Amino acid sequence: MPKTNGGKKKKKTPKTTLVGISKKTKKAVPPKQLTFTASKCPFPGGKDFADVAAERKRLALPAAGSNSDTSTVAKLKIDGKSYYGVNSSNQNPKTPITLTANAQTKTHAEAEVVQKAINDGKKGKADSVEMWVDRDACSSCGIYNGIGSLARELGAKEIIVHSPSGTHVFTPPTSIPRAKKPKPLGLLVIKKKGK
Ligand SMILES: [Zn+2]
Repeated sequence: MPKTNGGKKKKKTPKTTLVGISKKTKKAVPPKQLTFTASKCPFPGGKDFADVAAERKRLALPAAGSNSDTSTVAKLKIDGKSYYGVNSSNQNPKTPITLTANAQTKTHAEAEVVQKAINDGKKGKADSVEMWVDRDACSSCGIYNGIGSLARELGAKEIIVHSPSGTHVFTPPTSIPRAKKPKPLGLLVIKKKGK
């Protein structure tokens, strides 16, 4: 018999965990499950994106999205302060990345800006942190949740990333239970009968 709830439709609450590891499949949540919560096209409006564009200009990089553009610039706001980052090939001098994330993410603008905030003592200063990036997250940062690792390193519960395709929320990765290691043959214990 179907359940009745008085004809009222239950309001769906929007999901906030958008990138990470699926509890059901233990696999990284693909990008199609990302939820877009802000304007689909943040360019050229918005003071923060204007700041990102200004930082790009300061670094003498071509305009974001132009044919000659191969760089990424990011801005992070935390605890009343703003930080800027760029991919490692455009860092001069290079920022030593001591935080833990996947190897690709560590060379990207998202990591530099978080590293700068950590170096400035901002770790654990906010649960929710906002970032503006003038290129969509690569798969290492996005699908594989490198930005979630950055949230963890920053001591934050989430990093809200605004990028050309919209806004995405990244949360620290949940641990995946590892497959049991097969026992090396040499360590097999053969029980003798009678013992
Ligand atoms: Zn990336």
